[in-house]
Amino acid sequence: MTKFIFVIGGVMSGVGKGVSVSSLGALLEAHGYRVSAMKIDAYINVDAGTMNPTEHGEVFVTEDGDETDQDIGNYERFLGENIHTTNYVTTGRVYQKVIEDERNLKYGGRCVEVVPHIPEEVIRRIRLAAKKAKADIFLIEIGGTVGEYQNILFLEAARMMKVTEPGNVAFVLVSYLPTPPHIGEMKTKPTQYAARGLNAAGIQADFIVARSSEPLDEPRRRKLGIFCSLEPGAIISAPNVDSIYELPLLFAREKFGEKMLIKLGCRVRTPQMKTWQSLVRTVKGVKDEVRIAIIGKYFLTGKYTLSDAYISVIESLKHAAWYWKKKPVFEWLSAEDYEHDPRKLRELDRFDGVLIPGGFGSRGIEGKIRAIQYVREKKIPYFGLCYGMQLATIEFARNVAGLADAHTTEIDPKTPHPVIYANPYQMQNIINKRYGGTMRLGSYPCSLTKGTIAQKAYGASRVSERHRHRYEFNNAYWDRLEKKGLRFSGIYSAKKLVEIIELPSHPFFVGVQFHPEFQSRPFRPHPLFREFLKAAILRKKKK
Ligand code: GLN
Repeated sequence: MTKFIFVIGGVMSGVGKGVSVSSLGALLEAHGYRVSAMKIDAYINVDAGTMNPTEHGEVFVTEDGDETDQDIGNYERFLGENIHTTNYVTTGRVYQKVIEDERNLKYGGRCVEVVPHIPEEVIRRIRLAAKKAKADIFLIEIGGTVGEYQNILFLEAARMMKVTEPGNVAFVLVSYLPTPPHIGEMKTKPTQYAARGLNAAGIQADFIVARSSEPLDEPRRRKLGIFCSLEPGAIISAPNVDSIYELPLLFAREKFGEKMLIKLGCRVRTPQMKTWQSLVRTVKGVKDEVRIAIIGKYFLTGKYTLSDAYISVIESLKHAAWYWKKKPVFEWLSAEDYEHDPRKLRELDRFDGVLIPGGFGSRGIEGKIRAIQYVREKKIPYFGLCYGMQLATIEFARNVAGLADAHTTEIDPKTPHPVIYANPYQMQNIINKRYGGTMRLGSYPCSLTKGTIAQKAYGASRVSERHRHRYEFNNAYWDRLEKKGLRFSGIYSAKKLVEIIELPSHPFFVGVQFHPEFQSRPFRPHPLFREFLKAAILRKKKK
């Protein structure tokens, strides 16, 4: 019998609901259960691929090629398992299926209505995903917060599941407790309203995860209990932590796993927290810094700098730095600055390594190409992911191979040297404006050339990596660039597509067409991130 835990947000988004789901999942795993997790987003977008990362955060890609919410990445990192497309649901997907079924006469002449058919389709998806994952315990995170109109049908699905199998379903409200500076006291009222909001949807929370800057004190624990109809023990204090990886341990101290298992009628075994403890010891113990510059564009919103769009990249860099017992320090650099003032490039000298992550479109492109030229010539370790690989190829073509105006056809369709281009298959998608879900997506095998930086890093001859891009390296330029010293070290053999480029004459200059950041785990850093950090640390030592 699978047990289901619904996790719902209260008061506001961005308080760490995804990390709470992941941490509770990790804790229940440590108790000896098979756990998986699912995310439900209220967007009509069928997938996250069509959403702007500045607004919505990173688009995470699953191995089976789905473009999902970044929370799926948290689940993968905390649960140590690959999450599949079945575990991501949007309003768009639900309606698409119901309408399709109606067109195919699957409803056998009945009236098809929002209630019950939409919640029923949501429930079908939840059960299917839990079954596929062979989960003992299945967590379902509902995006956004209680009280948002667009979440009502998901809450209705959750309520219906509770009615049909009361002993197998539990509800967690992850809510925020503000401490307004002018009052100086932590306030519980907004969370009380959130709990009442859930009641209005026919749901009583079994636990409240109280997110706050400081740990919850006894009076507030009691108050929340009384006004939200819970025992004080069902209120889990979750104050801010330095590292998200502390949360499973914090939940263990609150006996959250134990309490949840009792609630669900499961046997309680002592949780094995050793691996988490040693990870957190490392995270908190590292002092010696390694400085990495990330040159991107999806982090400025108004007056604020957000790094959500690159969350997997940042986590991967952390995993790799911790592997070498170093403290990673990041700085966000804006490529456009280098276009206005090339002298600014000198700021790159301060860093031990420079990374250019994936991206789309023309903003800041020439600045990035200048930055790549700078780090190539100055022998600063460089790691280019997807667009970062394509731009490195363009830079090399222009400045080393003498192919003036070499470009990607994404930006300049008329370039005399399309070193990066859309192959005929992708051209058809572009011509027919078939954009959603049509990039090269998900895992592809990559064969590695013996003796290259990449091959040595992986210590394998064939690996599998996840993709999300429309454009590719143009093999018409293979010989010309190779002659000038560019090495093609990873290939998707079936289609002869270039997956990895590198410069043997440089301490570390590697570009990958795929997204290695989606496969790095806190307990298993990705080999290429690990080697990039190694080169960065070496540069620091030499400085
Ligand atoms: N814009 C490039 C492409 O579509 C790179 C995409 C990416 O970096 N994810 O091929």
